Amino acid sequence: MSMPCHLKRCSRPVAGKAPVGVLALQGDVSEHISAFETVIRELGQDIRVIPVRKPEEIPSLSALAIPGGESTTIMRLIDKNHMRECIRSFEGGIFATCAGMVASAREVTEETRFTPLDLADITVSRNAFGRQRESFEADLSINGFEPPFHAVFIRAPIITRAGSDVRVLAEIPRGIVAVQKDKRLILSFHPEISHDLRLHHYFLSEVLSR
Ligand code: GLN
Repeated sequence: MSMPCHLKRCSRPVAGKAPVGVLALQGDVSEHISAFETVIRELGQDIRVIPVRKPEEIPSLSALAIPGGESTTIMRLIDKNHMRECIRSFEGGIFATCAGMVASAREVTEETRFTPLDLADITVSRNAFGRQRESFEADLSINGFEPPFHAVFIRAPIITRAGSDVRVLAEIPRGIVAVQKDKRLILSFHPEISHDLRLHHYFLSEVLSR
């Protein structure tokens, strides 16, 4: 069951060298940690990347990654650990991939097992590519990224509707696969497991400084 966020500092963002957290309840947590560590090293910054399992760890972060994995499990564990309201009121950056996108949605089509976090006004369809194309790779054109971004999709969701305050960063014929809402970057695919870390660079050097 969800509880209100009772932590005094819950909604206060912490600037500067505050750690980047990776929600470590289920999913590809270690891949997210090492991708962020690589990019932080490349940027010459002194920021720690830490696994996050408790609500009280969230307010002191500069950003929180919500990893790929199984969204039904991640959502169940978010509520079990009373993290829902602290994530929803967190004002730092959010970097959500795949199952993290499902968790971040306002609405998930035909999903009654959980209520998503509503971190952006998007409607998401889970496992949108069916069995035969459960996993595939595609080159995405994203404004400002040259050459195109090589994206890995694994049982990926798709965005079927994005609100007017949500910026669409990338689309494929089937639908929208990358959006930004203020400091929140929400992706259908897994940049943490490809060797292309430009979206992490963009997130740490531009999105977070908004
Ligand atoms: N299909 C999974 C879900 O909806 C997401 C898959 C992934 O994160 N690679 O939870």
